[in-house]
Amino acid sequence: MLPPLNYSPHTFSVTGWRARMILLVILVLTVSALLPAVAQPVTESAAARPKRILMLFSESKDVPGNIALEQAVRAEMRKLSPNRLEFFAEHLDASHFSDQAHFQFFKDYLGKKYAGQNLDLIMAFPSRDYTLAGALPDALFPNVPVVFIAVNELDAPYEISKLGVTGIVQRFDIRGTLGLMLHLQPDTRRVVVIGGVTEVDQATLQRIGEAARGAEGVEFDFWTNRPVAEMPAAVSALPAGTAVLLSTVLRDVSGQVYFMSQLAQMLAPPAHVPVYVMGGWVLGSGAVGGSVVDSEDLGARGGQLAWRVLGGIKPEDLPIEVATKGTPMVDWQALKRWRISERRLPADCMVRFRPVTLWEEHRTIILSSLAVFLAQAGTIAGLLAQRKLRRRAETEISRQRTELAHVSRVSTMGQLASALAHELSQPLGAILRNTEAAELFLKNDRPDLVEIRAILADIRKDDQRAGNVIERMRSLLKRRELESNPVDLGELIEETVALAWADASARRVTLTMQVSANLPLVLGDRVHLQQVLLNLILNGLDAVAAGENVERMLVIRAGLGTGGNVEVAACDSGTGIPADKINSLFEPFFTTKPNGLGMGLAISRTLIEAHGGKIWAENNVDRGATFKFTLPAERREP
Ligand code: ADP
Repeated sequence: MLPPLNYSPHTFSVTGWRARMILLVILVLTVSALLPAVAQPVTESAAARPKRILMLFSESKDVPGNIALEQAVRAEMRKLSPNRLEFFAEHLDASHFSDQAHFQFFKDYLGKKYAGQNLDLIMAFPSRDYTLAGALPDALFPNVPVVFIAVNELDAPYEISKLGVTGIVQRFDIRGTLGLMLHLQPDTRRVVVIGGVTEVDQATLQRIGEAARGAEGVEFDFWTNRPVAEMPAAVSALPAGTAVLLSTVLRDVSGQVYFMSQLAQMLAPPAHVPVYVMGGWVLGSGAVGGSVVDSEDLGARGGQLAWRVLGGIKPEDLPIEVATKGTPMVDWQALKRWRISERRLPADCMVRFRPVTLWEEHRTIILSSLAVFLAQAGTIAGLLAQRKLRRRAETEISRQRTELAHVSRVSTMGQLASALAHELSQPLGAILRNTEAAELFLKNDRPDLVEIRAILADIRKDDQRAGNVIERMRSLLKRRELESNPVDLGELIEETVALAWADASARRVTLTMQVSANLPLVLGDRVHLQQVLLNLILNGLDAVAAGENVERMLVIRAGLGTGGNVEVAACDSGTGIPADKINSLFEPFFTTKPNGLGMGLAISRTLIEAHGGKIWAENNVDRGATFKFTLPAERREP
């Protein structure tokens, strides 16, 4: 019996469910298979795996030449690479551990350590042979390219260029170093060469021997058969005219291992003659220098080569470079020690360890300080020039003031001339009359001597009176600079009043003076102060004469003012001053007089102010005006 038909849908539905499951599984499998393909490029490009470089050194890690070289290589490659680089470094230390077992151990160690590390490049720094650049990497990392840098005289074996290896063989510039030595010290007659016994050492010595044949008149002595330990004493006994050239001593006769810088440090300081070297990293040990291998330059060249190989160029397409040219380089300190003039150095010679001068070290500070200093000096010079100009101007002003004051005094004296002539004529007339009387007395047989003596005394008195008038005039007429002396104002007023008295009485003006007792002295110039007083008195007399007051008087007062000042006032019963003119009186050329000059008060003001005082005018309450001036009293030390 056939199964009922209604099974069919069920059977169909079962088939449909299975088919869906199968489809789902296929889908999941397909997606999971595709996913890594999609994800991989994303993770790879995002991480941009750093290039891995393994550096292999024949010697131990503290050899100065290699340290400098390694740093220069890394620096150059980092400069060239936009991405991070990963460096590993391993040191065979073959000079100290030269047996095959050690080498095997090193090889196994490398093989295990770097298995699966996906190295991109091997950089080898061989020193004795080229195993580190050829056989070893070929055995351990056959597909990884190799770049080497070797500083020695051994040639790279031809086979290694077939193993995916390229590099630089840097030879010592022996000829260059000998050339520099004989150039700096032309008197050298003997060169002592210190070298070692290894194959590399012998190769170097052989090349030195070849170069020596070119140096005529110089004897070469090869010290290879004595232990280095004995050499400090030996080099300290070398006579003048000798120079030492350090070759390589990877091992000496006693089996001791030495590196170039170590050797130089041992021998250069005690040596009695200059020591020359061939590696730039050796400078600083006391050696003079040489045409040396410049680690920085070599490292940079090696770094560039490595970068090209990392970039995809096959090493076999890059021929091994053999470089022989050195860089002339000397130690400044050693030049000084051996009194070698820098002028002797070839133009391209580098000088190391020259002390940095203050200028080199602080150039910016020095320049900016200099700029500030110059600016300051400029300002100071400007100020000094200004001060000089001001001083000159002040001197000129003072000269002109003195001149003006003098002219003014002369003109004042002109005003007084007739009164003074009158004042002089009185004593002169009296003298004449007394002389005539005396002559009469003398005609007697017995002249009355008592009377004659009295007449002579009168004559003397009149003469003195006339002499005083003349003296007063003379002192006022003298042209003089401002002086500063203690002045008794009371006495000065008295004298000035005496000078003007004749003029006052001619004009029928009562001229009086009132001076306080114990008036302090003032510091000043007697003649100039007298000029001011005289000017005020004459102006007062003019004002009284021009006025219509019945009482014609002029009083000169002097007393203690405020603030320890002495105050002098000329008070008249004259015309007074119109209110609108009171501020103009002291202006130069202000005058209301037909024959006036208008300079008297202006000059008086400059003179009083030069004494540290003040001068002003005011109208009296009743009539006339008062002119006042103050002067600081002289301070007496207690
Ligand atoms: P001058 O006497 O040549 O005019 P001054 O400078 O001495 O020059 O005086 C200036 C002016 O001040 C006088 O012309 C006068 O008008 C006024 N003056 C000076 N002293 C007096 C005074 N005592 N009373 C009134 N006016 C005076």
